[in-house]
Amino acid sequence: MTNLKGQTAVITGSTSGIGKHFAMALAESGANVVLNGFGDKDEIEALRKELEQKGVTALYNGADMTKPDEIDDLIRVGESITGVVDILINNAGIQKVAPIEEFPDDKWDAIIAINLSSAFHTIKHALPKMKEKGRGRIINLASVHGLVASPFKSAYVTAKHGIIGLTKTVALEVAEHGITCNAICPGYVKTPLVEGQIADTAKARGMTEEEVKKDVLLAAQPSKEFITYEQLNAAMLLLVSDAGSGFNGTDLTLDGGWTAK
Ligand code: NAD
Repeated sequence: MTNLKGQTAVITGSTSGIGKHFAMALAESGANVVLNGFGDKDEIEALRKELEQKGVTALYNGADMTKPDEIDDLIRVGESITGVVDILINNAGIQKVAPIEEFPDDKWDAIIAINLSSAFHTIKHALPKMKEKGRGRIINLASVHGLVASPFKSAYVTAKHGIIGLTKTVALEVAEHGITCNAICPGYVKTPLVEGQIADTAKARGMTEEEVKKDVLLAAQPSKEFITYEQLNAAMLLLVSDAGSGFNGTDLTLDGGWTAK
């Protein structure tokens, strides 16, 4: 098992889905964690306490990823634990499925801010201390939609293609500092985000929700299986480990064969 004792991880959007499971796996491996994201206060506190029971420091900061000042605070909270954010995972994300002529302007702005620009701000604020330490790991949650498009997801596909560009650029800038920056590109994972878009897609395409699951989501994924949290944790733990130091600027794709087509 990867030993991350003494390291500190900040995971944006870790009150739900993939980010929450990353936080649990990181704490299990000995890393201190800073949780971030929205949700029920009591549930978030229960998660924080559960993580602390693994013998690490676990904090919560509710920074809104559309607000650069709050993002700066989040990184400072991470640095308050051991002086540096060793592991930064840019995971917060939202989705909206609609034809471009009907796509709400405010949703476009929110998706670009949360799914793309927030990673620029976290990286900008976390890098100076990582460089001082001479080691760091940055992971950006992209998507297969960072590599290929699907209709009705203009803002999401644009943001995810953008974050792959950001990943490559940062990788080149940090390559001689013991730091790596990589993207993880999952296919469909059955998280609350995907549950939400099943209903939207059904409306946009005039289908039932069952048809969307079978004929739209898993039709794209040749394995016909959702990607699991365990599979994503394995990829994430490899990238943050010493054994993963050769990965830099890459897009690690877990999509059941989707982009092989
Ligand atoms: P989710 O909806 O379960 O979790 C999203 C998290 O982001 C939550 O903690 C939420 O509170 C947080 N968040 C939303 N807006 C925020 C804001 N303004 N500020 C701070 N936090 C905010 O989603 P998920 O499916 O776990 O997705 C996590 C990441 O993985 C996203 O970037 C998503 O695009 C990506 N992804 C998901 C899938 C999938 O199939 N689920 C596939 C590919 C990529």
